[in-house]
Amino acid sequence: MPDTPPRDRPPGTFKVGSIAGSDVLVTSSWFLVAGLIAVIVAPAAESVQPGIGVWKYVAGLAFAIILYLSILIHEASHALVARRYGFPVSSITLHFLGGMTAIEGEARRPRQEFFIAVVGPLSSIAVGLVALAVRGFIPEGLLLMAVDGLAGANLLVGVLNLVPGLPLDGGRVLKSLVWGATGSVHRGTIVAGWVGRVAAVAAMGWPFAQQALFGQEPDVLDFVLAFVVAAFLWSGASASLAGARIRGRMAHLVARDLARRTLAVPDDLPLAEAVRRAQDASAGSIVTVTGSGVPVGIVSEAAVAATPEDRRPWLAVSTVARTLDDGLRLPVAIGGEDLVRALSATPAAEYLLLEPDGSIYGVLVTADVDRAFRESAD
Ligand SMILES: [Zn+2]
Repeated sequence: MPDTPPRDRPPGTFKVGSIAGSDVLVTSSWFLVAGLIAVIVAPAAESVQPGIGVWKYVAGLAFAIILYLSILIHEASHALVARRYGFPVSSITLHFLGGMTAIEGEARRPRQEFFIAVVGPLSSIAVGLVALAVRGFIPEGLLLMAVDGLAGANLLVGVLNLVPGLPLDGGRVLKSLVWGATGSVHRGTIVAGWVGRVAAVAAMGWPFAQQALFGQEPDVLDFVLAFVVAAFLWSGASASLAGARIRGRMAHLVARDLARRTLAVPDDLPLAEAVRRAQDASAGSIVTVTGSGVPVGIVSEAAVAATPEDRRPWLAVSTVARTLDDGLRLPVAIGGEDLVRALSATPAAEYLLLEPDGSIYGVLVTADVDRAFRESAD
């Protein structure tokens, strides 16, 4: 009997293990890059250890695996700090540009964001420094080459990740600092997102800067690499900015402001009579109640529209009402992201809005929320 249901894995990924309950996944693109690293490293391995023949590729592949194990340390440090703050971590994915830790939920305070982000680059720098410290004790050979490579790669990854633009860790650090200083997570994301775009442009210009600074003629690989990194940074920064804009617009959605006046009717009332009374009362919605006044259903506007006029006197209003399950009752004070989350948790056309004392305030119509959201874009 399976005790835990298999988790959904993104397509094209393979599970290679787990760390403290989080799956460690590897994307198929990673295998390509591991092979590429092996081919690039192989000649250096042969020059260090002449006569190893095809084993140079095995040495190259081993180096690629060691390199990604150090990236796993970086990602695991994010995961551990996130867990300490109570956020579940479903998976750590290694891909061709490094790694990604899937943390569920968003930091609630700037200091949580700060520590979850900053620990990654600091771990990489620590791995790099440890590698530098032990290299003096290692004799010339393949192992020393691997340790040197590990030191260089981790120091580079650590320092570059501290560049303060999203989607890099340094961008999240900057976001948390602006958030802490201004009290606005929105402003923090906007600032760090724009710095991320500037970093993307700077990455694109790197081959030219290399030429100007060091007189080194850039080759095709330099341009391809600069383009890949710039595209990664630009798309990540843009996604953060777009997310911030949508969140900003969501913040203006307040259920109370969007509520329709509602009319409570007995659930055995004929539909035609219920509609007539609602029109007389200028109510934009109808809620059905029991004899003792307890709300039991919300009349579906779509179901009423689909019922021919001549049938309405013969149908009870309850036949076009949706039963009020828990997800269809919302507190009238709900708004912003909480509101959007509640609507997506229980998709429906209409929701009942209740005052804190349990009395009926009105009805929230999903179409009204959508319209308000669209209009807030202008
Ligand atoms: Zn990181």
